[in-house]
Amino acid sequence: MTLRVGLLGGTFDPIHFGHLRSAVEVREYLALDELRLIPNATPPHRDSPGATAQQRLEMVCLATASDDQLLVDDCELRRERPSYTVETLEALRAELGAEATLFLIVGWDAFCGLPGWHRWESLLELASLVVLQRPEQDQELPEVLKDLLAARSVGDASALTATCGEILCLAQTPLAISATHIRSLISAGRSPRFLLPDSVLGYIETNGLYRP
Ligand code: ATP
Repeated sequence: MTLRVGLLGGTFDPIHFGHLRSAVEVREYLALDELRLIPNATPPHRDSPGATAQQRLEMVCLATASDDQLLVDDCELRRERPSYTVETLEALRAELGAEATLFLIVGWDAFCGLPGWHRWESLLELASLVVLQRPEQDQELPEVLKDLLAARSVGDASALTATCGEILCLAQTPLAISATHIRSLISAGRSPRFLLPDSVLGYIETNGLYRP
């Protein structure tokens, strides 16, 4: 059996149960050996008034501390400049080898924006895509992605046979949770409790994050 690795990148500002539940369900459904959460570096303006890259990383570590199959990979934060996903996948390919099966996991909103990503057509030469449904998804799929889905999508996990290049759209437990909503609750003095782990909420309170 070759190594099967799932990669869930995100700003995680902050990480919440929408991310965590999706990660667990994808891991089980695809029988992954490991699932890596990869906090993205963001331009400085995105960090204010939210959390710094280091704080976002610490919250992801806290959220996953009790699950040894959810790994945190800080490769994008260790680079000197914000990196493109395609470069991260190239680095992971170099690390894991050509035989590994890589799955890049993205929410529907992120998938709709894919044609704007640097060298986006190369992503499928490096990994397969798992597209997660989101309850409030209202973006229209660009034509180019409709064509891509027609050519590359498979019906279920058993039809995923390649190490890269395939697309699976996955319905999982719908959780209408977003980091934007959590930040706006806190900024309005309201509680985001039970939308994210208590450990992460404790960190947010201790560090005074997302307050007006
Ligand atoms: P923000 O509201 O700040 O844009 P977010 O909640 O969308 O943040 P991100 O860190 O941007 O969180 O998301 C990382 C990845 O997880 C993206 O591919 C996104 O589509 C997906 N995702 C986030 N929340 C959910 C959710 N509730 N259900 C399914 N996928 C999700």
